[in-house]
Amino acid sequence: MKIGFIGLGHMGNPMVRNLLKQGHSLKVYDVVPDLVKKVVGDKCEAAASVAEAGKGVEVVITMLPSSPHVRNVYGDRNGLLASIAPGTFLIDSSTIDPLTSREVAMDARAKDCHMVDAPVSGGVAGAEAATLTFMVGGEAKDFETAKPILQAMGKNIVHCGGIGNGQVAKICNNMMLAIEMIATSEGMTLAAKLGMDPKVFASIVNTSSGRCWSSDTYNPYPGVLENVPSSRNYTGGFGADLMLKDLTLVTEAAKSAKHPVMLGAIAQQIYQKHSIDGNGGKDFSSVILQYLKL
Ligand code: NAD
Repeated sequence: MKIGFIGLGHMGNPMVRNLLKQGHSLKVYDVVPDLVKKVVGDKCEAAASVAEAGKGVEVVITMLPSSPHVRNVYGDRNGLLASIAPGTFLIDSSTIDPLTSREVAMDARAKDCHMVDAPVSGGVAGAEAATLTFMVGGEAKDFETAKPILQAMGKNIVHCGGIGNGQVAKICNNMMLAIEMIATSEGMTLAAKLGMDPKVFASIVNTSSGRCWSSDTYNPYPGVLENVPSSRNYTGGFGADLMLKDLTLVTEAAKSAKHPVMLGAIAQQIYQKHSIDGNGGKDFSSVILQYLKL
């Protein structure tokens, strides 16, 4: 297939490489020219603008930082939708708010283009290994169109329902993850302060009712597990600032849905303070430093 790809950052770069490996031809664009240079080559041509990346292709994939970038790339006077050919299929894999996904998809339909939202989990490592999970929102037949394309970049491709529901799945899951990571940090540090060996405590939790992914697979207490960010000074993994972004999206979505997210809002504030303290670039399990420091 001939695919336009916009947004060649940490995730976009390996996703483009995996599409090329599967034999697709690409037209790529990023506002940072050096990022374009990194991927152009055989079957991968540079586009001079967003609009050009959408011309003469069957599909356009976007992988952008946040909602304003997506609105800008699709909706701007010189954006994608202003000049797109009817029938071009659109996939937005950025993590953004569900409302923006739905609005942009409606604008796309007005141009006779079908669109799905397909945010990912799995991080840069998953993007490099083509093992991402794609959470896809859109009509059933659009999901079927997107699936073989997404399979070049991911392993689990899940239909979450109508447009915007990929974002719903992504941000609600990450809210639960943030809350459980903070809870694990709080319990682990208190047990240690009250005199327990953190490793022994973790082994008890992990065979008891306090067990969760943050305690048994990604424990934030240094030295409890090997090969996790807490054992390498919180480098690698999923950045605390990306978690803060998702928590901000989820609290805003909850506000517009008039739904209480008491713990989600507290988690958002804890990650905000963690970021202000200079930890935004560290893995999100470093939130335990809010307790270990005290
Ligand atoms: P990134 O900032 O590294 O890449 C985004 C790219 O978009 C940048 O290269 C930027 O120059 C480009 N861009 C911005 N505005 C543009 C425009 N108008 N036209 C063309 N290009 C433009 O971000 P990332 O880490 O690749 O993440 C992309 C998305 O995936 C985000 O929504 C993020 O939340 C989500 N995500 C990231 C990870 C991760 O581990 N990095 C994991 C899961 C989901």
